[in-house]
Amino acid sequence: MRRQRSAKIVATLGPASSTKAQIRALFDAGVDVFRLNFSHGTHADHDARFQAIRQAEKDTGRPIGILADLQGPKLRLGTFAEGPIQLAAGAHFRLDLDRRPGDQSRAPLPHPEIFEALQPGTELLLDDGKVRLQAERCGAEYAETMCRVGGTLSDRKGVNVPNAVLPVSAITAKDHADLAFALDHGADWIALSFVQRPDDVAEGRKLVAGRAGIMVKLEKPSAIQRVAEIIELSDAIMVARGDLGVEMPPEDVPCVQKQVVHACRLAGKPVVVATQMLESMINAPTPTRAEASDVATAVYDGADAVMLSAETAAGRYPVEAAAIMDRIACRVQGDPLYRTMLEGTRVELEHTAPDAISAAAAQVAATIGAAAIVSYTTSGATALRAARERPEAPLLVLTSHLGTARRLAILWGAHCVHTSDVKNFTDMVQKAARIAHREAIAEPGQRIVVTAGVPFGTPGATNVLRIAWVDR
Ligand code: PGA
Ligand code: MN
Repeated sequence: MRRQRSAKIVATLGPASSTKAQIRALFDAGVDVFRLNFSHGTHADHDARFQAIRQAEKDTGRPIGILADLQGPKLRLGTFAEGPIQLAAGAHFRLDLDRRPGDQSRAPLPHPEIFEALQPGTELLLDDGKVRLQAERCGAEYAETMCRVGGTLSDRKGVNVPNAVLPVSAITAKDHADLAFALDHGADWIALSFVQRPDDVAEGRKLVAGRAGIMVKLEKPSAIQRVAEIIELSDAIMVARGDLGVEMPPEDVPCVQKQVVHACRLAGKPVVVATQMLESMINAPTPTRAEASDVATAVYDGADAVMLSAETAAGRYPVEAAAIMDRIACRVQGDPLYRTMLEGTRVELEHTAPDAISAAAAQVAATIGAAAIVSYTTSGATALRAARERPEAPLLVLTSHLGTARRLAILWGAHCVHTSDVKNFTDMVQKAARIAHREAIAEPGQRIVVTAGVPFGTPGATNVLRIAWVDR
């Protein structure tokens, strides 16, 4: 089974989408990578999802990526004694470490780190920014605030502090447990939430120790300020527009999205555009025109993947959401302007053998009208460089590492096949042609461009480009 679409689809699993049949239906509708959101659900829930995804992989013969998204230091209010309260603009309200349930005048905020970082004037955003408080007087265990924008507050609502770098690591005690679970179950990607600084990524990288790729969610202004260093340290990036749009004015989010997608394309790191892409489909079978345009824009920009969150996790039309996302991405791909735009942002080569070979492969394939570029890779690094070229010919990635095939399910244009090691040069050429034919990427009588590293099995040694015929 071969998809014709270059941009990939990530879908979040949740109560609306966790049976074997639902997961298979999502895959059939176009989902390439499933996201397990560890902010919700038990380990038993996630265990069942892991099994259902791996079953779908067996049944379809296609490698599927699993993204385990850690909750990170998401800050929350405590509880209220007598249900929700109403705060009016101008009201005084106290937040403190006192565990007693809150009332009209105060509420518990069980995060000492916040009080350490607060200064008079600092803004606190509650419930996705619906209520805004400004610190007036603060100490190590409390803050007296004034309500700037009023509204309802209730138990365990989220708290964002956009303009402070909090002295917390991006990996909490809960995250440690979830991470161990996710790695044990063979997650391909680990997403780190609320990363504030490059050190947070380094810490995650140390814990994951190469067992999965590290995807950093950009959802804090402090992370955007140091985005170049953060991209450098990560394996992939998610533009997490939900929390980013709470912590930044909404008008800043589109520019950040464009800049980050561009920077990731330059770096050759997969980039995912996420959140509210088809939000209205939580309750409706078709998207708004603006939502369709949002998905299309991310694809035109050359993002590796677009993501569904509540649409597939908790919505009424999960399969329809994946299907329309697939159709939008395919439609963009058929527009000649898409090619023009990708070429318009052509990226400079690094002076390395893999980049030289990847660029040559794209050019040779275009010149001779080859049916595909076939890239042998062990770690996946060569495939990342090949996809960075955004070649016009389909990219067939052959790897003897199943983990690499699964991880690269997120990569733009990559059709990954897990295969045995090649024995020699002839075997390499024949296998490439055979699989290209079998996967309906090339027809007999067409040519393919093959890249590999000789001697075989040495990671990072891509040094060969071969034109081959698919036998009649
Ligand atoms: P979340 O992250 O869905 O885990 O909050 C994505 C975002 O904030 O956009
Ligand atoms: Mn978020």
